[in-house]
Amino acid sequence: MKSVVIGIDIGGTFTKLGVVDKEGNNIASKSISTQTTDNNVNTFLEILNGELKKILHEIGSGYRLIGIGVGAPNGNYYSGTIEFAPNLQWKGVVPFVDLLKKYFNIPIVLTNDANAAALGEMLYGGAKGMKDFIIITLGTGLGSGIVVNGQVVYGHDGFAGELGHINVRPDGRECGCGRKGCLETYVSATGIKRTVYKFLADSLEPSSLKGVCFNDLSANMITEAAIKGDKVALAAFEYTGEILGSKLADAVAYTSPEAIFLCGGLAQAGDFIIRPTKLYMEMNLLPIYMNKVKILPSGMKDNNVGIMGAAGLIWHELEK
Ligand SMILES: [Zn+2]
Repeated sequence: MKSVVIGIDIGGTFTKLGVVDKEGNNIASKSISTQTTDNNVNTFLEILNGELKKILHEIGSGYRLIGIGVGAPNGNYYSGTIEFAPNLQWKGVVPFVDLLKKYFNIPIVLTNDANAAALGEMLYGGAKGMKDFIIITLGTGLGSGIVVNGQVVYGHDGFAGELGHINVRPDGRECGCGRKGCLETYVSATGIKRTVYKFLADSLEPSSLKGVCFNDLSANMITEAAIKGDKVALAAFEYTGEILGSKLADAVAYTSPEAIFLCGGLAQAGDFIIRPTKLYMEMNLLPIYMNKVKILPSGMKDNNVGIMGAAGLIWHELEK
C-alpha cells in the first residue's frame, strides 16, 4: 500500500482538500465551502469529515492515509489552533487540530497558509534545495512564510512572519487588523484595488478601469488593463512594487534569503509586479546584500498551491 497524506487549505470562502503522495502527486482533490449557515466550526468539521471519507473511498484501497496537514489563516503550529482569523466565520480561538482528531487518529499538523506555502515551495516548487528563502502570498491579504536554515520560522508563540502587518505609513489605510497603514493594505489583491481607485480619483487619465465598481474589480482585471498599456493600471503596479520592494529590503536584513517568491492572485501579474519589486528592493538594500537576492514567481501550479503546501507541511513533519 502506498502512503499518502491529506492537505487541507482553509480559505475564507473555500476549503480545498487533496490526497498527495510523497513525490508530490496530487492524486485527488476537491473544493468545499468553508461557510456554513450556522457559523459553527463543528458543522464544518462534520461536512469536511464526510468529504474526506468520500475522497479516500474514491481513490480505492491501494493507499494508506498517514497524516493530515492543514494551512489556515492565523493558524498556530504549536497549539493547532486557528486564532482570531478576520476572514473566517469562526470567532476567537478554534482548537482545529483537536476537533479534527476526533475523526482521524493520525498525526495532524496545522500552520498558517503562508508557512504551508513555504513548505510546499521547498518540497515541490522553486525552493527545492534552498535553505533560506521567503515566500510572500498576495491574495486578499499579504501572507509570508520565512524559512531559515531549512526550517520555517514559527517564533516563540507560533506567529512569526506576519509581514502583511508591518507598518508602511503611520497614518495610512485602515487595515482589517484594526490598525492603520499595514503593508497588506497596499500590497495585496485588495491593496492594489484600493490604489487603482485612488489613482482614478486623482487623475484625468483615461482608463478602462473607470467604469468598474470596486467590488467587481479584480487583480486580474488590473493586469489585463496593464497589458493593454492602461496608464492607471501600470502606475498602480509601479506603486505597489515600490512599497513591496522597500519593505522586502528590510526583510532581507533580518534573514539574508537566497530568494523571495511571490505567489497568489496578484503574483499572476508576473513581471508587472516582479520588475518594480526587484527594482525598489535593490534601491533600498544595504550594499552587502545587493544583487544577491532573487525575486521569483512560485514554482508550483497555482490551482493547488494551498493543498500542496498543507501536504508539504505534514510530509515535512513526518520526516522529522
Ligand atoms: Zn494590519
